[in-house]
Amino acid sequence: MAVDMSTRLDRVLGAKTAKAMAEQLSLHTVRDLLRHYPRRYARRGEVTRLEDLQVGDRVTVLAQVRSVDSRKMRNRPGTLTEVTVGDGAGTMKLVFFNHRHARLVPGAWGLFAGTVGEYRNRLQFAHPDCHLMTGDDDEDWARALIPIYPASKDVSSWVIQRSVKLLLDASGGFGFVEDPLPAELRARYGLPSLPAALLDIHRPTTAEDVEHAEHRLKWDEALILQLTLAARRRAAALEPGIARPGRSGGLLDAVDAALPFDLTDGQRAVGEELSAELARELPMHRLLQGEVGSGKTVVALRAMAQVVDAGGQAALLAPTEVLAAQHARGISAMLGPLGRAGELDGDPAGTRVVLLTGSLKAAARREARAAVADGSAGIVIGTHALLQEGVEFADLGLVVVDEQHRFGVEQRDALRAKGSRPPHVLVMTATPIPRTVAMTVYGDLETSTLRQLPSGRGGVKSSVVPAREKPTWLDRAWTRLREEVAAGRQAYVVCPRIGEDAGGEEEPEDADGAPGEETSDRRPPLAVLDVAEGLREGPLAGLRIEVLHGRLTPEDKEARMRAFAGGEIDVLVATTVVEVGVDVPNATVMVVMDADRFGVSQLHQLRGRVARGRHEGLCLLVSEAPTASATGQRLAAVAGTSDGFELARLDLETRREGDVLGAAQSGRRSGIKLLSLLEDEQLIAEARAEATALLATERGLADHPGLAAEVAALATDERAQYLEKA
Ligand code: ADP
Ligand code: MG
Repeated sequence: MAVDMSTRLDRVLGAKTAKAMAEQLSLHTVRDLLRHYPRRYARRGEVTRLEDLQVGDRVTVLAQVRSVDSRKMRNRPGTLTEVTVGDGAGTMKLVFFNHRHARLVPGAWGLFAGTVGEYRNRLQFAHPDCHLMTGDDDEDWARALIPIYPASKDVSSWVIQRSVKLLLDASGGFGFVEDPLPAELRARYGLPSLPAALLDIHRPTTAEDVEHAEHRLKWDEALILQLTLAARRRAAALEPGIARPGRSGGLLDAVDAALPFDLTDGQRAVGEELSAELARELPMHRLLQGEVGSGKTVVALRAMAQVVDAGGQAALLAPTEVLAAQHARGISAMLGPLGRAGELDGDPAGTRVVLLTGSLKAAARREARAAVADGSAGIVIGTHALLQEGVEFADLGLVVVDEQHRFGVEQRDALRAKGSRPPHVLVMTATPIPRTVAMTVYGDLETSTLRQLPSGRGGVKSSVVPAREKPTWLDRAWTRLREEVAAGRQAYVVCPRIGEDAGGEEEPEDADGAPGEETSDRRPPLAVLDVAEGLREGPLAGLRIEVLHGRLTPEDKEARMRAFAGGEIDVLVATTVVEVGVDVPNATVMVVMDADRFGVSQLHQLRGRVARGRHEGLCLLVSEAPTASATGQRLAAVAGTSDGFELARLDLETRREGDVLGAAQSGRRSGIKLLSLLEDEQLIAEARAEATALLATERGLADHPGLAAEVAALATDERAQYLEKA
């Protein structure tokens, strides 16, 4: 039988098995099966995880039968068989009703798979699947390490193990597997061949075998992903945009002259980088990451001004209406008459700043759209309403996306398609992105970083308030807030929920919320409306308190933000609508209620709101989580550092990687199984360099058909996923 990687499994396995593998594990081809790696390995006689098991875990354990005890059941007919198995470290009970495996006898070794239950304080498996060692299996069972695969209802770990072995035996050692990695590259990095690595991952003898194999297989994942991304970059590079060089005496010079502060060195350096890239025909694709408050907006404004000077238009995309309105206000104020060209008091040398959001009244929207279409609006600011059909730009030269984490790749692409030729793209994010994530999820973007905060900033002090352990600390928190207000400052109180009835943002708005700790018996998260009420009547009585959340009309939201910015409100009780970019320098205190309901990055974002002025900010993270719990520790870590990059790392640690990738590119879609964004930074960087080098030559992947096939397979997968979604 001629087998290769793309052979369908129903050609090599039994029809029933192949069908179950396809349906339950999405394994369709030999490649899929061989790339379905063990999750871990069971070792004979070694302390396995029997001890660490928890009720509800679905597991496979390798253990030896210690005793078998059958007896008639008292309350119903039939027999109950209790089998005690052990692995040297712990023991556990298997329970069978009216059924007894003939080979379950003391001394027998077997793999037992099932869901862990509990009976009289002891762990037990009721009716586990058993796979007992037989003469035929001897060779398999004598192995020191037995692979435990991600399994499903009808495809157990050992069915997978046997299927792999079948392929192995039929092919005499995976002889049909061609190695996609160039031999030269393998030699340089000391990587085993693919057949050898597959053999070692599926049938290792020692832990070192597994390690070497994994390293090699991670290379496949990293290189293929990087090749895909590099190809995307190259394709984008082949479609020329329009050069937007700067010119002196234009809007950019006027902006610089009007700035009330000196640019930081970082702003200047990034500014030059952007300016040079905009001056080229090759469309810029750049990610600008910078701490909250590092002054990204002015960097973007200067880039937009350069594009306007070159005759084009620039669009600034914000994730919320509040933020879009704030940007429009801020930029208009900064430009003064230069932003009102065409109006009576406008400067004809300037341009028009137009705000285009979903909440505009029909007439205003028509007017705004007209200004965008005839090119008189050089700077267009809006939310995703800008992406709607019907918004036509005269000559879109630059797209700036603020706070990337709320925007998907698709939206970026939609806006990019608004230009007759691809516009330059600048994506800004305040959530620092670990280098590995930047190289994978955002692998089609180049990155710039603003590390420095403008001088004269107070910074933020953060502490955790354990509301249950130290109730008096919460009282103290409200006293601190009153003191700040008495000193002329303002405060935010942030809650995870709006309240009253469901709808809109009822669920915590965070996409990156606290990891996997949701249990149904937790009380619902604190709500803006309830908390505001409680504060008005209780600890903050007499202060001017208002609420802000996503269920308000855009006009109300806007009005409240304006009132808060104008100092007419002391305390704003809000959802995470204040998370992104809201800029009120006089606000110095933030109290986050139920802080454990927010993700690490989100808390960091939130507290950035009180680090905007000359005064030192104070951020209090209120939580009922015990300080010693993992959640408590996570909050303590957030309070303990203001280094966004360290927090991004922490964030990555506390979330599953699939979730991280999920934001833009699901784990499966990116073909990542073994690669760890946390631990494999060096490997990813090397793979990126190799991918770029491979594609830089005339012939591209022409000399590496194996690699080309793998890249194509990933693309097919991606397309399949896309179709599934559609
Ligand atoms: P972010 O990077 O979080 O978007 P912003 O662009 O909103 O930060 O800037 C935060 C604040 O810092 C704004 O009020 C802005 O005017 C101010 N700012 C920006 N650059 C400087 C600078 N070089 N010196 C002083 N203040 C600055
Ligand atoms: Mg900002």
